[in-house]
Amino acid sequence: MTEWSVETLHDHYRQALSVDRLLYDSATEHQRIKVFENGSFGRVMTLDGVVQTTEGDNFIYHEMLTHVPILAHGAARRVLIIGGGDGGMAREVLRHASVAQVTMVEIDAGVVEFCKTYLPNLSAGAFDDPRLDLVIADGADYMRDCAERFDVIIVDSTDPIGPGEVLFTDSFYGHAKRCLTDDGILVTQNGVPFMQGDELTGTMRAFKTLFTDWGCYLATVPTYAGGPMAFGWGTDGPARATPAEVLRGRFEEAGIAPDYYTPEVHRAAFALPGYVQRLMP
Ligand code: SAM
Repeated sequence: MTEWSVETLHDHYRQALSVDRLLYDSATEHQRIKVFENGSFGRVMTLDGVVQTTEGDNFIYHEMLTHVPILAHGAARRVLIIGGGDGGMAREVLRHASVAQVTMVEIDAGVVEFCKTYLPNLSAGAFDDPRLDLVIADGADYMRDCAERFDVIIVDSTDPIGPGEVLFTDSFYGHAKRCLTDDGILVTQNGVPFMQGDELTGTMRAFKTLFTDWGCYLATVPTYAGGPMAFGWGTDGPARATPAEVLRGRFEEAGIAPDYYTPEVHRAAFALPGYVQRLMP
């Protein structure tokens, strides 16, 4: 009898993945962590029943939340990741030899430890990279007390339920803005706008007050059900206008070999369909 992991993120829309082999299922003080094998996506991690990442399609999400801001910025040396306990975001950031230092602030040490054990392909050695500083703390508290400045800040959080809720507030975004360098870029995991439009509008309302260049870009991640996912984008710098040939040059110089990101996909990702444009404040 096949067991199914049924995601209950949305009220009237669910996705189910077969649990072909359960690897881990337990709760930490913050959330319930489940890791299982699925015939279509490889190993899958859910937190509180919501798909967080899979071996099969994580590359799309992690590549688009890292290479877009880093290559658009052009000289990112210090990067902050809020969340990202599985290590996939750190893996992609650390592919850039130009990045000198990555701080990763994750609330749940259990997620890091269990992903190291059950999802080692996600971090692919990132936790052993000397450039990575792992901080176990609430990202909202860290941001509030932070006195450092970063060229790129990536919010790789859960959805705005449970511990992730504080990472979708105006005060959090304000502190993140304060901790950006002059041309620094803030990017955020902002859900699937077809299903979570209000979440995107809320973030964009905050970004509109904070940044001269604000908006979002899109990519479709199969296990983030409901259509393209939105990534919030905010900066006071010129990054969005980076010419295609400059982007292509930086990409080739970086020498990374992504499976989703290309400079052309990067630029096209900012073209928004009408229903997403209408969610902009
Ligand atoms: N790709 C996923 C998505 O789009 O929903 C996110 C994956 S990542 C595993 C999400 C991480 O955010 C988890 O490790 C979770 O523990 C962490 N997290 C949630 N709330 C947090 C907070 N307030 N501070 C820091 N990390 C947090």
